Formats: sequence, structure tokens, C-alpha cells
Amino acid sequence: MSELRIRANLSLDDPVTRVRQVSEVRARAFAELGISTVRDLVLYAPFRYIDFTDISTIASCVIGEKCAIVGTIDKVEKRQLRHRRMSIVEASVVDATGAMKAVWFNQPWVADKLESGSAILMQGAIEHYNGFKQISSPIYRILEGDPSSAASLGVQPVYRSRRGLTPSLIAKIVSNAIDDILPSSIDPLSPALRVQNRICSRQVAISNLHRPASMKLVKEAKRRLAYEEMLLLQLHWLIEAKGSDESLNSFAHNVSGEHLDRLFAAIPYELTADQNRAVADILEDMGTSKRMNRLLLGDVGSGKTVVAALALACVSDSGSQGAMMAPTEVLCRQYAKKIGQLFDAIGIRWAMLTSSTTPADRRDIVAGLATGAISVVFGTHAIIEDDIAFNDLTLVVIDEQHRFGVQQREKLRSKGPRSDYLCMTATPIPRSLALTIYGTLECSYIREKPTGERQIETKVVGKRERFIAFDAIREAVSAGQQAYIVCPLIGQIEDGEPEQPEGEELEEEFETLLTEFDIEDIHEDLVAARKEAEYLQTQVFPEFRIGLLCGEMSPREKQEVMESFRNHELDVLVSTTVIEVGVDVPNATVMVIEDAERFGLSQLHQLRGRVGRGDLPGRAILIASTNTPESKMRMESIEKTQDGFELAELDLSLRREGDVVGSRQHGLPSLRFTNVIRDSKMIEKARKDAKAILDADPSLSSDANALLAHELDAVYKRGERA
Ligand code: ADP
Ligand code: MG
Repeated sequence: MSELRIRANLSLDDPVTRVRQVSEVRARAFAELGISTVRDLVLYAPFRYIDFTDISTIASCVIGEKCAIVGTIDKVEKRQLRHRRMSIVEASVVDATGAMKAVWFNQPWVADKLESGSAILMQGAIEHYNGFKQISSPIYRILEGDPSSAASLGVQPVYRSRRGLTPSLIAKIVSNAIDDILPSSIDPLSPALRVQNRICSRQVAISNLHRPASMKLVKEAKRRLAYEEMLLLQLHWLIEAKGSDESLNSFAHNVSGEHLDRLFAAIPYELTADQNRAVADILEDMGTSKRMNRLLLGDVGSGKTVVAALALACVSDSGSQGAMMAPTEVLCRQYAKKIGQLFDAIGIRWAMLTSSTTPADRRDIVAGLATGAISVVFGTHAIIEDDIAFNDLTLVVIDEQHRFGVQQREKLRSKGPRSDYLCMTATPIPRSLALTIYGTLECSYIREKPTGERQIETKVVGKRERFIAFDAIREAVSAGQQAYIVCPLIGQIEDGEPEQPEGEELEEEFETLLTEFDIEDIHEDLVAARKEAEYLQTQVFPEFRIGLLCGEMSPREKQEVMESFRNHELDVLVSTTVIEVGVDVPNATVMVIEDAERFGLSQLHQLRGRVGRGDLPGRAILIASTNTPESKMRMESIEKTQDGFELAELDLSLRREGDVVGSRQHGLPSLRFTNVIRDSKMIEKARKDAKAILDADPSLSSDANALLAHELDAVYKRGERA
């Protein structure tokens, strides 16, 4: 085949081997980067750009900001720290306005590339160290010629590379592909959609993603590609949701019956506005033959249980049955107790079925469910066993659905093919994320808490101010209270030296983990925690009783330690593991978290929720280093806000695009361009556009939608196989 013909025919669906300069060997290297088709290749975004049009001088670069600097290398020094695994390369760099330092940790090979007298471009965050401006582990490029030549380089993409594929080779190959794709065949978005959303064509986007003239054009390109990616995802979700809808209509419940009225009357408090809204959403869904597929989201204590109870009351009014499944027996008992009391008062017949139900009781329950004598069953996965059959199951409620497997969920649903479906979660999932990962579900949020927010006074202190935390513990324990100390997740520290990437001038940003804990020679949680506990016991709190709870201990050991803490046989509990959910020790009032910057904000929020559960107020003291703007911002927000959702959103907004929480677990192709928080408006818009497209053309069979349908197949069929 002549090259000309290949060029004229290159399609996005072609294997990457059809692109010029891609051999089988290189194709295998591309496969390691997740690239197998031309589409994958041209959507492979550079992980960063170097903007040679925007260079700061050493005098003008601002501490705390990310800058690019061009200068001349003066002196290079390589040192090995006495701790055997730490090496430092230090270079001084000068330009016409001054001098600064550049340091690279644990990348000893960098020293060989830096030559005194050559021109260098460096990009990274500017820090302040010993009176000098400093840049740590910057990405860099040695420049041919003198520093003034830099500006002519424009904006350069930098690709993550693999053995056998250097960043510059990737750039060349991507360029080959872009040149050879048929331009007319590649825009699945109609001109109307593009105008409406003010986005560029795909061709322009792809070209500007890889060969931009300015960073502004990169942004435009990514915005277009993010919209496309989200529109496809929303089409995918809506088609999937519709598929299950149409296969069988659901049961239309009586949502204005007697039991419901009596339950409303029996609730001893006023529902909050959010609860009322959620109930209205649910009753509206349940009252029609359209299948309810709803997710109820609310923090622990926001009052989801009573909302579920109201939904369950409708099945009794409809002469059918409901089942509520919880992931643990403890939770199940809690529901049975709370809801069961209300049901007893108004005459709804219910039962609880778990693995510890006695055989005799179980027999009765199995019979009651089969005849319909029991209206509502609360259970663990004991209720999905094969011999459990319902007379007429029309409502399935699943608590913390992600803790069940898909098969378990399906099994429960299969016991009631006409069922409406309500799931509940206390995980703070912002709406835009829910639309992304649970796109077949509609969402109801309960954000306000009925009892008002329990404030945990939170203070962030530097590592050298650890004594403040110790003083707080001393004060609390002396007053007869108890405290937690949560140690860092030692296992997460990167171990050993990173390998030198082959033939690369630009190194990936490398997180410096220069903390006290790295320097101690610790490998395992257990060792670390034992040391910490020992240190605290002997050096800091010799007068207190200190216990240790550690992820690597046996369940029995853990339980014993928790038991003694609960019984106040211990004053301070040192823990390396995230303290078990459900731990409820009302006498614990102080929580100290070491190396707090390593935890996610949601995690910190959940941790601090473990104190102040009794009558006494709780305090959290976070020991953290805040030497990057990001960690500073994160620590300030945990100090200031008590809203779990806000913190979760912030956490998510700090991730890079493509890094959707758990997208892999959810079986989705990863999102390359969308950041679920930053792009939340766009996500809503894409959802709306997808709905409109499907309303007009439910099967995407019109000519106008042919490319869109093709794209959807290409992206999601492959997603299913993966
Ligand atoms: P969740 O299931 O969301 O964790 P619960 O339903 O267990 O929350 O509610 C927590 C507590 O708040 C319960 O004791 C419940 O009785 C109470 N509660 C729920 N809704 C209200 C309300 N509107 N007003 C006052 N108390 C409420
Ligand atoms: Mg609850």
C-alpha cells in the first residue's frame, strides 16, 4: 500500500500501527500507555506544557508560585545524605537579575546532565530556603545555545513516556497522526452543539492539544474535549438507564395511603426541608410505573433512615413488599430498631433477617415473605439467599450500595423484577461526581442536619509545634477524658529510589517526602506505631496509659484494645489505621493527627468526627507541614469548614483531570479531560444536552447523529471489554 493511500485513509478506529513511524515494538510500548488506536493516540494529552513565551526572571519570580526560569548553570553539587536512601543534587543558576538554587531529591542522574556554563530552562514552584529562592525537583531542559534562544521555542508539549518512546518521539508520532487523519470525518458534535457550547471543532482541539501556539488555545482544546467526553458518558448512562426502564415497567405504588399518613403523624419531629424534598422525589417516582432509580445522599445523622421508612410505608399501602439491605449486622439492627418501632406503632408487619437469625425464626420469616404476610424485611445479605422468595417485592432499599457487589445487588433486585430501587449513602459524593459515576441514578441530597452541625474545633500546627497537641492531650486526660493519636500511613511512603527514565531530559515532577518519618528507617506500620507508642509512653506521657491499635493486628487484638479504650482502661489510643467506622467512645474529646497533610480532606473530616460524640465538645489538632500552597490551602479549609460535602468537593477539585475517584472501580473508561468539580457546570450541561439529543432521536439512528453513535460505540464497547 502506498503511503499516500494510508495517509488518505487514516481513521480514528485504526490501530496505532497504521500511523507513520509506529513499529510493532513501538506499538507495544504505546499499549503500555493505554494507546491502541489512532483515537487513543490523538487524545493522549501531554501531561504538561512548557511555555517558553512566559519566562520569569530570578528577581521577578514569586515565592509560592509556579514559574519557568531560564538561566545559566553555575555550580553543580551532588550529595548523599547520611540516611542511605537520600541523595540531593544542587545547582546554582544565574540570570541577568540574580541567582537561585535548584535541588533534585533522589534523582542522582540529574547531576550528569547539568553542566556548568550551559543554559537551562526550569519549571516548578518557587520556594524560599535559607534566604535564597529555590526550586525543588523542577522539570528542566538543557537549551542549545544561549538563554535568549528560549522564547522562539513557543509552547512545547511534554508527554509521559515509556521505555522505547521518548517524549520527543511521541510528539513526532502524534504529529504524523494528526497530519494524516481525514479532517472531514472527525467531528461527532453537530455545529449547533458547538455554537451553543462555544467550543471549537474536534480537529482544531486535537491540533491545539498537541501543537498549541499559546496556553490559552490548550485550554480551549481541553474544554472542547472534556465536553465531548462528558456528553458521550451521559449518552451512555441515559441509554443504559432507559434500557432497564423499557425492559419492564415498575410497579406503581399507592403513595397517598393510610400507613403513610399514620407514619407521618407518628414521627416525633418536623422533617427538614431537605428531607421533605427527598421524600417528595421518592414518592413521585414510586407513584408511577416509571422505574425509580434513586440515590439518597446525606452525611451520617442527616436523617436518611426516616426517609427510607416513609418509602417503605408505601409498599404496605400498596399491598406489596419492601426489602432494605444493609452491609453489616450492626447497621441492620439499627434500622430494624429505629424503623421497626415506628412500624409497630402504625401496624406495618416487618421482620429482620441476618446470618444470626435462628433456624426456627428464619423458617417463619421465609414463609411470611413468600405469602406476603410480612410487608417489610430488614436484612444483611442473608436476604439474597436462594430460598428467599417474596410474594410481591416492589421496593428495594440498599444502604451503602458500593459495599455490595454488583451481583449481590442484582440478586436482590431479581427477587422483585418490578421493583423500584432506592440506594442510600453517607459518602459525600458531589452531584457532578454522582452524575459521572452513577449516571443511571437520579440523586436526592440531604445536606442540612436536623440537629445542626456538631462543630469540632480544629487547629493545624506545624511539626515543630507538636507540643501544642501534646498539651491538649495532657489537659484532656488530666480532666478524665481520653484522646486519639492517629499516625501517618507509613505504607504510603514511596520506598527506594525511583528508576531513571530512559533517554529523558525532562523528569516528571517528583513529590518530595522529606519528613521526619522518612528519615527514620521504618518500613512497616507496626514497627512505626510501636515506636511511636513507646516514645509517647516513655518520653511524653509517662503518667498516662497508652494503647496501640494497628491495621496489622488480628481482629481479636484490635477488639480487645478497643474494648479497653472504651472501658477507660486506656487514656490515649495510638492508631495507625483509620479508626474503625462506628467507634463511638463518648469520653474521647481530643484527636491528634500526625502528618495530616497526607490524608484526604474527607478522611480528616471523618476522623475528627470520632471525638466530641458525648456531651463534651471535641477538638482536633492536626500536625502538618504546609510548605506548599496546596497543602496550606487544604489545611486552612479543614480548619475553617465543618461541611463534609464542601471538603469532598475541594479534595476533588485539587485532583488533576482524568483522576476521577474510583472511575476504574466503576468500570468506566477513564476521563482524560474532565475534572468533576471544576467542570461541574459543564457536566450538568452535557447531561441536559444528552437528554435533548435522546429525546429527539432515542436510538441515535438519524444521519445527523451517525458520527455520535459511532463514537459512542467506539468508546464504550471498548470500555466494556476492558
Ligand atoms: P442517617 O440515617 O442519615 O445517618 P438518622 O436517620 O439515623 O440519620 O438520623 C439521625 C438522628 O436524627 C436520629 O436519631 C433521628 O431520629 C434524628 N432525626 C432525623 N430527622 C430529624 C428531624 N427532621 N428532626 C429532628 N431529629 C431528626
Ligand atoms: Mg443511619
